[in-house]
Amino acid sequence: MTDALHEIGEPRTYAGGVTVRIVRAGWFRPDAGGFFGVVPRALWSRLVEADELGRILCRLNLLLIEAGGKRILVETGTGTRIADKQREIKGIEGGDPVVALRAVGEDPTTIDYVVLSHLHYDHAGGMVDRSGRPLFPNARYVVQREEAEAAHGDELRLQGIMEVEQLDAVRAAGQLAEVNGEVELVPGVRVMRTGGHTRGSQAVLIGVDRPAGRAGDPTDRAVFWGDLIPTRWQIPVRWTSAYDDYPIDAIETRSELVGKAAAEGWWCYFTHDPGALPLRIEATDKGGYRAVE
Ligand SMILES: [Zn+2]
Repeated sequence: MTDALHEIGEPRTYAGGVTVRIVRAGWFRPDAGGFFGVVPRALWSRLVEADELGRILCRLNLLLIEAGGKRILVETGTGTRIADKQREIKGIEGGDPVVALRAVGEDPTTIDYVVLSHLHYDHAGGMVDRSGRPLFPNARYVVQREEAEAAHGDELRLQGIMEVEQLDAVRAAGQLAEVNGEVELVPGVRVMRTGGHTRGSQAVLIGVDRPAGRAGDPTDRAVFWGDLIPTRWQIPVRWTSAYDDYPIDAIETRSELVGKAAAEGWWCYFTHDPGALPLRIEATDKGGYRAVE
């Protein structure tokens, strides 16, 4: 891949015949201090360079999954409702999921499910257009119930951070599918509540429930982490971001799932990683984990 604004990756097939392509929907630049949270600059700066404003160049990665005759879009990018001033501060280029899909020859009206990992602006910003109409007219939008509840809750930390208006617009259009916990969307594709980053954050598991080794069936498994692990740089399980609302939960869940991913060789898709994906995770002899291409 080059570094164009909008790109689509080669399809990869996983257990159960699930096909996955990564859709690059633009760029944004989160503040490095927020992004790496408790991690000292001396450590993260070995992995990635910040720009002159102290920001990290990241991508807005969506997934296009095809399984059982259904098409699933994971994440909606920043969308276009965000104010120009905020776009500038956050260094957003692109971010419109419809423009991104059309640019790579995909028709947004063919999407059956839109999965939101959580309701922050860079994941749920493109649920609806400026007038409040769902950008994916034929899709059900899949959100964890706890995330939808937290968005409407009274916790001060969350005020103005969750895409509540967009959530409500999708609900009013009759297109919201609230799910609870681990749910199979179509055979081979599951969403799973992880919490940690936000109360109702969810990951997407692909082929993970399939028995390995069936004749003629690719047995690879994959995971989309959402912001539980936004890039390959955050694989060390204790590297919590300042944007993690429940850091203790995030560490516990990351530890459990990263251990599984390493043991079972899951292919990993990271929502903000600018590099080539997917990657696998392997255990190091020091008791940690690292990404391998
Ligand atoms: Zn994010």
